[in-house]
Amino acid sequence: MADMPEFESEMHRTAVAQLDDVAGRLHLDHDTHLRLRYPRRALVVTVPVRMDNGHTEVFMGYRVHHNTALGPTKGGLRYDADVNMGEVTALAMLMTWKCSLMGLPYGGAKGGVRCTPRGMSKRELESLTRRYTAEIMLFIGPDLDIAAPDLGTDEQIMAWMMDTYSMTQGKSVPGVVTGKPLLVGGSAGRREATGRGIVYVLYQAAKSLGQSLRGKRIVVQGFGNVGGVAARMLWNDGCVIAGISDFRGAIWNPQGIDIRQLEAHVAESGSVVDFPGADPLTNAQLLEQPCDVLIPAAVASQIHAGNADRIRAGIMIEGANGPTTPEADQILKDRGVTVIPDILANAGGVVVSYFEWVQGLQHYFWKETEIVARLQELMARAFTRVWNAAHKNGVDLRTAALMEGVRRVADAHVVRGLYP
Ligand code: NAD
Repeated sequence: MADMPEFESEMHRTAVAQLDDVAGRLHLDHDTHLRLRYPRRALVVTVPVRMDNGHTEVFMGYRVHHNTALGPTKGGLRYDADVNMGEVTALAMLMTWKCSLMGLPYGGAKGGVRCTPRGMSKRELESLTRRYTAEIMLFIGPDLDIAAPDLGTDEQIMAWMMDTYSMTQGKSVPGVVTGKPLLVGGSAGRREATGRGIVYVLYQAAKSLGQSLRGKRIVVQGFGNVGGVAARMLWNDGCVIAGISDFRGAIWNPQGIDIRQLEAHVAESGSVVDFPGADPLTNAQLLEQPCDVLIPAAVASQIHAGNADRIRAGIMIEGANGPTTPEADQILKDRGVTVIPDILANAGGVVVSYFEWVQGLQHYFWKETEIVARLQELMARAFTRVWNAAHKNGVDLRTAALMEGVRRVADAHVVRGLYP
């Protein structure tokens, strides 16, 4: 098959290799397989921003729609120094499989701007967001493509994006983004949804493996939206959170870190580093500490051929997208580590984003208890489907999850046919 120099990146190679493997296992016909390998549309924009020092900087921005066979596209917006076309395209593809696996009426998308948000002022971030939104305006909309927060973006960025889009329509259009503040049409429980979903899936996995999570030692890489919420919930439930990190470094205390005190420390200092109740480690060292459960919840390709044989966790559950390279996957499999893949583990975010979108379209908002109960039900159902498929087909959980996700999209292509 033709290669795709436009999307050249490690993550894209991984995503396409995963698809190729699954296509073989599903005996997909060549033509359908070929269509799934490519994004439907990919847009590159430049985003000029007047910085606080008076000079203009130009940032690279992307929005990719991978597939629209099941519905409009849905996917996060990421602000990070490593953003590139290949990574965004790979993440859009993963979103397609994730939405399909969860039974949502969406295809996958992703967006990103190459920048370092931590080094930018609030005004600069607002200008960047508004100009990026203006540049991708024709690509987004409540029934075309819906954005959400991801690495380096949050509710405020979604509010600016929604406001910018709405201004061009002459009316308020909350459905163009999810993960926005409650005040302007956000959903109860969206902020916590990804972390919460991870915890639900972890409980299901522990149950299936005949284990209990209480008192188990947990290590979390990343203390942002995903890692922070998962750590807090597991700590509340009596797990021992032995190690945590962020972009500045890691902390370790095998007796357990007090998450409430850590949250206060981070609110004051901006980082987990120098927390008095733990010892310092590097991010790389943290991943190799002995634990029962490892939750990578930061950035991609953290577990690779160079460190996979030193991972000492029984279960690894992927909060981040693409934290494990294919080589590492194989090593972990050979060593008997149970890996719960990103497209299942971190799907809670897009599930509650879907709830937010539906609530917004109906102008009728649900109680948080209802949202939590429905999220729990969907996550548990998806886990059971993947677990059973893995056993039935004699494959690992990642392959089983991808098979479930890819199959539904492929079937939709076949039934819709090829235009014209
Ligand atoms: P976030 O920006 O809220 O938090 C990211 C955390 O990772 C921060 O603590 C940051 O300091 C840390 N970090 C950044 N670079 C790092 C590095 N090189 N090494 C170690 N730590 C680093 O982002 P988030 O929303 O929590 O997203 C984290 C991951 O989860 C991403 O891979 C994202 O794609 C994935 N994800 C997020 C959602 C969501 O709803 N937010 C949904 C699904 C998947």
